[in-house]
Order: sequence, then structure tokens, then C-alpha cells
Amino acid sequence: MVEVTETGRSGVVPVHPDVFAGELEGEPQLVGSRCRQCGARFFPRRGVCARCLSAEVEVVPLGRVGTLHTYTVVYQSTPEFPTPYILAYVDLPEGVRLLAPLAGVPVDQVRIGMPLRLQVEPLRTDAAGRTVLGYRLYAHGGGA
Ligand SMILES: [Zn+2]
Repeated sequence: MVEVTETGRSGVVPVHPDVFAGELEGEPQLVGSRCRQCGARFFPRRGVCARCLSAEVEVVPLGRVGTLHTYTVVYQSTPEFPTPYILAYVDLPEGVRLLAPLAGVPVDQVRIGMPLRLQVEPLRTDAAGRTVLGYRLYAHGGGA
């Protein structure tokens, strides 16, 4: 699995290093870590297992569908993030809890436990004019 930590040829950069595998120009895969000793999974990736301290960790792809654990509505932010927006924790089936913006769902329709899908997409343009590639959450399936 190719790890993506550097600038792509077309001026695309990941929102955080080590969160994607694959070509940034295509549809990169969000990845985490899995401990070979105890099976614990982490996001973002770790070099050492936080549960058993083993260094036997491997990069694994993360699923794209999970459930809303909790959320907050952000009213104050930096200029590149228009407010208000929803910031949510999603629980993925792998046992990973991940923080990401939740888009496309009105605040009064957000429900704990609702199914959400992760979508890899451009978030903004940085000061150097590069596309910053990240991920957002959207409602998944019939609800909201
Ligand atoms: Zn472990």
C-alpha cells in the first residue's frame, strides 16, 4: 500500500500527513493502524500500540460508513472555515472514532447514532494555491 505524505504532482496536499494511502489525484483511501499483537485499531496512525505498547502495528484501510457518536456546532473558527459548521465524532465498524466536519445535515436533524458516510474531498485551497484534500461526513442511507 502506497503511503501518501507529500505533495502530489498536481498540487494536492493531504489535510494531515499519513491519513491517506493511494494517489491523491484519484480517490485516496483513509487509513489507520492495527496492532498485530492485540488487534486494537487507531486513527490517526500510530507507530506504537496505545493499548499494549507493541511496535508491531500495520497500516489498514478504514471503512467509509459509521454512526454518529456525538457532535458540536462551531460558531467561531479561522477564516478558511465558514461558520457555523458541525464537527462530529463518527464510530467506524473497525472500532475507530474519528473527528470530521459533518456537512449537508441541518443542525435540527442531527441525531446521535445516525448513519454517516466518510467522503474524501477537497476542503480548501492553501496559501500556496494547493488543493487541501481531506474528508467530511454526510448522512448515509435513508435518514436526514
Ligand atoms: Zn496492541
